[in-house]
Amino acid sequence: MIKRILDPWFIKKIGLNEDVLLTRELIEEYQLKKLRETLLWAKKNSKFYKERLKDSNIELLELKDMQKLPFVTSDNLREEGTNMLCVKQNDISRIVTLDTSGTTDKPKRVYYTEEDQELTVDFFNHGMRTMIDENDVFLILLPHERPGSVGDLLSRGIEKFGARTVRYGLIKDFKEVADLALKEDVTAMVGAPSQIEKLAQNYKLTGINTVLLSVEYVSKKTRETIKNSWDSNIYEHYGMTEMGLGGAVSCWALEGYHVRECDLFFEIINPETGEVLPDGEYGEVVFTTLTRKAMPFIRYRTGDISCFIKEPCKCGSVIKRLARVGDRGMEKGIF
Ligand SMILES: [Zn+2]
Repeated sequence: MIKRILDPWFIKKIGLNEDVLLTRELIEEYQLKKLRETLLWAKKNSKFYKERLKDSNIELLELKDMQKLPFVTSDNLREEGTNMLCVKQNDISRIVTLDTSGTTDKPKRVYYTEEDQELTVDFFNHGMRTMIDENDVFLILLPHERPGSVGDLLSRGIEKFGARTVRYGLIKDFKEVADLALKEDVTAMVGAPSQIEKLAQNYKLTGINTVLLSVEYVSKKTRETIKNSWDSNIYEHYGMTEMGLGGAVSCWALEGYHVRECDLFFEIINPETGEVLPDGEYGEVVFTTLTRKAMPFIRYRTGDISCFIKEPCKCGSVIKRLARVGDRGMEKGIF
């Protein structure tokens, strides 16, 4: 079994020699440096953060100092999205418009540069290696048509290590997908849990070693239905558009998911008081982007409930893990 696959990637990302063993100290030192850069970048280039952070002349001496900064909410994003931008419109390569189900009718719009999107491709490239290899044929049952869509970035990430991808999109015709899986010798797939569950209930596919569930909350029943029908390993991904789609991914140990700590700094807070909670305690997931250029997020409240798993992961990685989002507290869609 391949171990610690995400750790060598992290080491490479922070510019250290490949044989250096990743430690929490190295991760935190890197995160502190990137957080300082992000604060400077955001204050200098965005109207919103200039105003928002004007009273917080924070010198980040340690990660804990982040707690002194104000939160950003999805309402801020709806109301002041364009003021959060740190680059010129010309430098934007993709804009994702999200639903209008908030407190106002304004949609949320998230902007990325080409470079921002490549960071997601890189995460998918390395995150997916925890579950498939170059011999796999990976069926994508997520939207992929537009350049920069989740299916497109995922496909590009996977193809970087030589696995073949078959792009389909959200399932409209279940028989068609079952036939396609057979015809293409599909060994792994990603999709929305409810759709894959329905596929597994109706079609007994063989040779599907790996199923990655994304987009929405995954219940125990869904996992068991798929596992019992196809005898596959079920992996899960947690992410949201604001995180740059990718946020955290399960490893072969299949207990929670490892967070994308090289691009995102996560905190768990008490949703009532805003106070940061210790590892092991459930609260709201808050994140800060570390490498984003177009639209950085500083202490963005996701509304998702989870906790950091205290125990070390069986896979040996020192990268933090979040417990499955939605198992405790509110159950809600992730994208
Ligand atoms: Zn692990």
